[in-house]
Amino acid sequence: MAGKVWLVGAGPGDVGLLTIKGREVLQQAEVVVYDALVGEGVLGLIPEGAKRIFAGKRSGNHFLKQEETNRVLLEEALDGKRVVRLKGGDPFVFGRGGEELELLVEHGIPFEIVPGVTSAFAVPAYNGIPVTHRDFCSSVHIITGHRRADHSYDIDFEALVRTRGTLVFLMGTAALPDLMNGLLAAGMDPDMPAAVLERGTTSKQRRVSATVGTLERVCSETTIQTPAIIVVGRVCALADTFGWAEKRPLAGVRALVTRPRELVSTLANLLREKGAEVLELPAIRIVPVKDMTVVDAAIERLSAGGYDWLVFTSPSGVGVFFDRLIALRDLRALGGVKLAAIGQGTQKALLKYGLRADFLPSVYDGETLGRELRAACAPGSRILIPRAAIGNHELIEELEKGENLAVTDVAAYDTEYAAIPDAEGLIQDVDFAVFTSASTVRGFAAAVPDADFSRVNAVCIGRQTAAEAQKRGMRTWVSEKATLEALVKAVEEAARKLRIEN
Ligand code: SAH
Repeated sequence: MAGKVWLVGAGPGDVGLLTIKGREVLQQAEVVVYDALVGEGVLGLIPEGAKRIFAGKRSGNHFLKQEETNRVLLEEALDGKRVVRLKGGDPFVFGRGGEELELLVEHGIPFEIVPGVTSAFAVPAYNGIPVTHRDFCSSVHIITGHRRADHSYDIDFEALVRTRGTLVFLMGTAALPDLMNGLLAAGMDPDMPAAVLERGTTSKQRRVSATVGTLERVCSETTIQTPAIIVVGRVCALADTFGWAEKRPLAGVRALVTRPRELVSTLANLLREKGAEVLELPAIRIVPVKDMTVVDAAIERLSAGGYDWLVFTSPSGVGVFFDRLIALRDLRALGGVKLAAIGQGTQKALLKYGLRADFLPSVYDGETLGRELRAACAPGSRILIPRAAIGNHELIEELEKGENLAVTDVAAYDTEYAAIPDAEGLIQDVDFAVFTSASTVRGFAAAVPDADFSRVNAVCIGRQTAAEAQKRGMRTWVSEKATLEALVKAVEEAARKLRIEN
């Protein structure tokens, strides 16, 4: 049976500008064919098992010709696959979306279009430029600055000038002098505000403001980075007042976080809220231990009232343990057992089951948890700790100093690390790697085994995490407290420091 093709607009870069429908379709994809303009954050949402095909158009690199791309879509769909064709911005705005559908229609392949947020409107918005404004203009026009094969332009400059609307040129940076001269020759006021907007909605966003008369000269004094759009119109003057993206505390910062594949990253969202561009490296996989006999026995003993305390040292531990508990019995197996969590993330994981931790240490690390729990629990307490197969020793050592406490340390899951193809390219230009545990440092190192770690700025949640990063020669910063909020603060601090150094 034939598969299906979804033509999906990926938006201009910022992963938050992918539509909900686009994300849902992408997460179901078996084959993803993508362009160079698709943001790294969006690429990060491609499911692990899906086949990735780069159809990019970056000069110098290998790329598929348009006919080849059309053919790949057809072949994969004929093979019964769910194919997502991911395109930067909106697929129908200078995206050749129409051309890619023709062959599919010819062969009766079912398809859907998922529109995207076009760079023509979103990039000005991220620069504080409303493309229309009642006081300034009554239309907006999107024009390609691409030349035809005979090097001429298909642009009626007189008509454009007459509209008095906002003009947005895509693919126009190479043609910038011709475009400005064309407008001037057609009678446009040389003082008309104009701007070049580079790499909009990403951490590399930059704006060069001038007028139609001066834009060419101003741009010749700097290197314009692509992709970029050119905007012409009185609305450009509003950027100074409405510019907002560059004012966010982590604007311009590209951060990398390592997370288990199955978890959404709260940390990534916190960093994005502050304006950072975040890449997620899903290099860690949490797998329940193969032989569950010991875990099962502990669950049986727990339900028979055999433990006084149940201690969790990670959200993953909570997930793995409760999955098994619910597979065998149900939450009533907990009886009156007291719950301890190492920190807020783990506490949150418990809350998902409607459970509140009875105990949290004053500092969120294994040693403090061991020491303080030892003091808090009654002599003779029976303590169950389902956790990672390679767990931290200090927790157990501290507890065992207690008055005949019976500690049962159960290996519930393993953490696996995977090398990620293309990860080297992914981490280029990353300002910070942000780590929430020693295992995330190991996950990062496994993903990019050949990276030059001395060039990595690592912001770490605690000293154990920092030690793991230092061991590999990274430059490290440590957050004041072991909370995600404090970690984000530490990233802000580090960003400020680096800005001063540079
Ligand atoms: N379908 C896309 C446009 C494809 S044409 C859309 O709707 O956005 C490619 C051109 O889009 C680039 O040459 C550049 O002019 C513009 N562009 C795309 N992403 C951009 C970005 N993040 N910042 C600035 N310009 C961008």
